[in-house]
Amino acid sequence: MPDRDRLKKRVIAEVDRRRDELIALSLKLHANPETAFQEEKASAWLADRLEGEGFALERGICRIATAFRASHGEGEPKVAFLAEYDALPGVGHGCGHNIIGTASTAAGLAAKAVVAETGGAVLVIGTPAEEAAGGKVYMADRGAFEGLTCAMLVHPGNRDVAVSQSLACLELNVEFHGRAAHAAARPEAGLNALDAMIASFANIGLLRQQLRDSARIHGIITDGGQAVNVIPHHTAASLLIRAEDDPYLDDALKGNVLACFQAGAQATGCHLEHRWGEESRYKAMRTNRPLAEAYRANIEALGRRVAEPEPRRSMGSTDMGNVSAIVPAIHPTIAVAPVDIPIHTVEFREIAASEAAHEALLDSAKALAMTAVDVLTDADLRRRMRKEFEQAG
Ligand SMILES: [Zn+2]
Ligand SMILES: [Zn+2]
Repeated sequence: MPDRDRLKKRVIAEVDRRRDELIALSLKLHANPETAFQEEKASAWLADRLEGEGFALERGICRIATAFRASHGEGEPKVAFLAEYDALPGVGHGCGHNIIGTASTAAGLAAKAVVAETGGAVLVIGTPAEEAAGGKVYMADRGAFEGLTCAMLVHPGNRDVAVSQSLACLELNVEFHGRAAHAAARPEAGLNALDAMIASFANIGLLRQQLRDSARIHGIITDGGQAVNVIPHHTAASLLIRAEDDPYLDDALKGNVLACFQAGAQATGCHLEHRWGEESRYKAMRTNRPLAEAYRANIEALGRRVAEPEPRRSMGSTDMGNVSAIVPAIHPTIAVAPVDIPIHTVEFREIAASEAAHEALLDSAKALAMTAVDVLTDADLRRRMRKEFEQAG
């Protein structure tokens, strides 16, 4: 068995010797923000870089033009780094995906240097549209992550965390059909679809106090009627329903929320139509603990101190959750900004091009590549990863 410490020193050196060009690449992505599915430059720059160093490239995988798969080596294990590179409309790289895309690419380049010795394969998979549609949701459905030993990415944020949490998230679209009538002359002839909607939103407001702490229900009315002197015959709304785990969402929340709308329909005599957006559902993140523990040891060896996950921390949702349902996966965060500067802000965008971002880029690339060394060389770690993954499923 190759000496693991020596291989880790090697991948660290591989990142360090590319320091200047990696920082330049991250800044180039930052200066050229592209939103979901439009990431033509970013995906080409990263894929070209990998191809230039000998990776086999497949571009436009999963019927998504800006997705790619770069691979080197053969057989098992297969370690994948996932690269995100989309920006936010109006804000640019306010989520720091320029750092993620560059770090995962750098980790691939570094790990490639040891694959001849370890055996197995290393992949960098370009995953567009994390912010908008959830590119990984579709890529997961289309088989992009099948057969991997594990999948990893590191997200910039406010703290160094190895075990991240994210909420399952499901869209619900509703419509009420009533009957139009003159709102002053003949209101008794109408069935008020706006009343049905308002009653439903009030029901949801009441439901909230019985929900688990981390559950979230939020929505907007997309059609509230057409004319003030007409009883609205049609209204529509779009909602997102989020929960800490998928069974709670399926077994409790879906039924509770739908009942709120059914009650609105019954109270007003309107007809309810609804549609769950299962095809775009984000699953809750299932962090693989043995893999996260390997990452934690590696990032701490680089001098960072990893915080324990806070049980009541605020949470969003990420399409990495869908990957974590298919293969052992981690989605750690690395500190680049003070806690009072949240992601998705202009302030965070500025930090994503700062010295702190460059250090996070290099550290996360090294820690990812070092963790790949662990997975490639440690059969016991792979067995524990697999066991936990199967138990959690
Ligand atoms: Zn984001
Ligand atoms: Zn993000």
